[in-house]
Amino acid sequence: MASEPMHIGIIGAGLGGLVAAIAIRRAGPRVTVLEQAAELKEIGAGIQIPPNSSHILKRYGLLEKLEAAAVRPSALVFRSYRDGQVLHALELDPAAEKKYGSPYLLLHRAEFHTILLEEAKRLGVQVTLGCTVTAIDFDHRRVHIKGASPFVADAFIGADGLKSSCRSALLQQESLPKPTGDLAYRIVVNAKDIQKHKELRELVDKPEMNYWLGPSAHVVSYLLQGGKLLNVVLLCPDNLPEMIFTEKANLLEMRRFFEHWEPRLKLLLDLVQDTTKWKLMDSDELREWRDPSGRFALLGDACHATLPYLAQGAAQAVEDGAVLGELFARIDRKAQIPVALSCYETLRKKRTTRIVQESAALRHTFHMDDGAAQKERDRRLREDEPAEGF
Ligand code: FAD
Repeated sequence: MASEPMHIGIIGAGLGGLVAAIAIRRAGPRVTVLEQAAELKEIGAGIQIPPNSSHILKRYGLLEKLEAAAVRPSALVFRSYRDGQVLHALELDPAAEKKYGSPYLLLHRAEFHTILLEEAKRLGVQVTLGCTVTAIDFDHRRVHIKGASPFVADAFIGADGLKSSCRSALLQQESLPKPTGDLAYRIVVNAKDIQKHKELRELVDKPEMNYWLGPSAHVVSYLLQGGKLLNVVLLCPDNLPEMIFTEKANLLEMRRFFEHWEPRLKLLLDLVQDTTKWKLMDSDELREWRDPSGRFALLGDACHATLPYLAQGAAQAVEDGAVLGELFARIDRKAQIPVALSCYETLRKKRTTRIVQESAALRHTFHMDDGAAQKERDRRLREDEPAEGF
């Protein structure tokens, strides 16, 4: 018997929504993505694509394109915040590819997003911009759209991010993501400007990812765009007001926080011309990812926002999309969608909850105050003994 044509609506064209669109479309159904932004653009910063994510993207034939835009980090280097001394270096290239069958990659977010968008369009996914979903009518498989007629599909995936209105429609005020106590400054510095300072050259001459671990904070740096840019993320205590999620940063305040860190960082931060602070939120495990009719499910940050300390937020959204694709490939009747979405929730919930919890635990491990526990962590790192939380 021929399979019944299906039409799936995806709310949100972020990294998660686009991977889900690619995965589901490859499985057969027609896919429409509804995106509120009138123009698609990702923030100007980098993203780590760990092997669990690149492995999936490789299966979708995207590895070559990603590699053309990416940097392969040679190692992940943990450093002391005081003097930059190396505590531990974990080889990533070629070790990651040998171990997991796919490389660790570093990409500019805009390039990652463009590659996904082009692939979705190439597969025939309809991406509709300027389309804000305002309400969901679960019983009639219909979403309401600001200034336009309702949109009907056989099932919907809510991939509308941290401030998800899909999640609110499903669970009301229950299970909103909560502040983690940390914020991130997201910075990109031109490598040419860094090259002018010989003390800093090491940071741009080698494709290493550096993590400086210090009290209440850590700093991450890695190269982007063939080494043209250095992406720097400062993770430190959140001092944004309660309901303010992002704000232009005060550079003096930012530099003051790191003034007792190794002098190279101070020099690096002097090169920053402007940046923004982002409140970091994470989610407790949601009671439900699906509505009772079984034709609507959440994906990505909408249901498992996490601290980025394992670099797994988008990677988990990529896994969500891949699992949906596998499940849609196994059904051929609309009536089977609820079973597919139920399997999706079962397969994904435990793993994503573990990632959220492990990322939160790393906050403690990365941000230890000076003292005995920090010394013990650093000794273990130096002597290659697994430190607590690593
Ligand atoms: P989003 O990217 O937020 O996309 C949601 C989309 O939905 C948006 O396009 C939005 O406009 C749209 N939308 C919202 N509401 C509506 C509506 N009502 N109607 C229609 N459209 C709507 N992850 C990694 O894997 N590796 C990393 O290295 C990494 N580093 C990070 C560093 C920092 C500092 C932070 C904060 C996060 C990091 N992450 C990382 C996490 C990663 O960025 C997120 O997990 C990922 O972007 C979430 O994707 P998403 O598609 O679920 O949501």
